[in-house]
Amino acid sequence: MYAAGMRCPLCTTDDTRVVDSRPTEEGRAIRRRRSCPRCGHRFTTFERASTVIVVKRDGRRQAFDASKVRLGVEITLADRPVPQDSVDDLVATVERAAYTSRGSIHADEIGAIVLEGLRDIDEVGYLRFASVYKEFQRASDFEREVASLDAEESLNERDR
Ligand SMILES: [Zn+2]
Repeated sequence: MYAAGMRCPLCTTDDTRVVDSRPTEEGRAIRRRRSCPRCGHRFTTFERASTVIVVKRDGRRQAFDASKVRLGVEITLADRPVPQDSVDDLVATVERAAYTSRGSIHADEIGAIVLEGLRDIDEVGYLRFASVYKEFQRASDFEREVASLDAEESLNERDR
């Protein structure tokens, strides 16, 4: 299991407690609900024995590491008022996609999932990530994204 010594993502305590544990993905993985004895934070992990390979745009391959995804999301959302649970959920979504893949996943696919998730979580974070992920060439691309967010905003207004 890659999850030995699971750290609390909030206070980085090593010794987190498992409060719930159940098999998922037809027994290929274990979903664990964990709780941190130090700060009380709760988070979910997916753990399994096999390694998933991430294929990068330039063809390089490396082992999937959810903590790198988390770090990327946290950097993107630095100084944004986003609940930790939202970050946890997004990382869990990426993990699920990685581990339900057939042993490998493209970095672009991970990027697309993160982008989609950020769109729901935080507009500024979404735009920050989009500008990198989509490798915007022209300012008009950026404006188009902002315009599409505005359109969505007015549609979602009643839900907020
Ligand atoms: Zn903690």
